[in-house]
Amino acid sequence: MSKKTTLNHGELIPKELSEELRIFQEQGDEHVMTSIETPMRNDAFALSDEEKKQKIAAHFESIMNILGLDLTDDSLRGTPHRVAKMYVDEIFSGLNPRNKPSIKLFENKYQYGEMLLEKNISFYSNCEHHFVPIIGRAHVAYISSGKVIGLSKLNRIVKYFAKRPQVQERLNVQIGKELQSILETKDVAVIIDAKHLCVSSRGVEDDTSSTVTTFFGGQFKSDTTRQELMNYIQLNTEKF
Ligand SMILES: [Zn+2]
Repeated sequence: MSKKTTLNHGELIPKELSEELRIFQEQGDEHVMTSIETPMRNDAFALSDEEKKQKIAAHFESIMNILGLDLTDDSLRGTPHRVAKMYVDEIFSGLNPRNKPSIKLFENKYQYGEMLLEKNISFYSNCEHHFVPIIGRAHVAYISSGKVIGLSKLNRIVKYFAKRPQVQERLNVQIGKELQSILETKDVAVIIDAKHLCVSSRGVEDDTSSTVTTFFGGQFKSDTTRQELMNYIQLNTEKF
């Protein structure tokens, strides 16, 4: 990105500001998505998982130190390593394509040509703007083109893409496109209803709102199929 001076709401941002601060000032607290692909550097996997954990632990220790926490306290001593391990092995493990679930498809022996809906797939993700949790449910539907997928694999695909720093719109599209590719059909729908802790636990501190995003492909673009899907889902936000 060029270091040019930018006008933002009539305010002049000096070019000597760091790029990060400039982007923050332009973006403010809004959630924006820049691409469908998770933005990754070419050398994203140059370090081993172990090397990543060591570096993250050291940096997280610095953050805790800067905050004034006493790292010699028994309760805090292990935190940098716990966080590093959690980032790499768990909540951000979906960044690594190696962790993508292997999918086996089956012949549609029953000749089931109707909609299949797996609803209320619970997931935890993290907002890439604040690194705090997104807690939600995904409803995934498809109409078989001749192949069927094991039901638990739908859950695994949702969880794989959720285990990244995310924005909900991208998460939704990534799941939808992946299923279209695996199932070799455009007839895929994904609806996500999620709560963002960056909205509820901080910022505007709204604890009741949730965000709904949708992906409708192929036959799901038609009103009747979409209505049928909605009837099956009967979105119920009280489940959170
Ligand atoms: Zn956020």
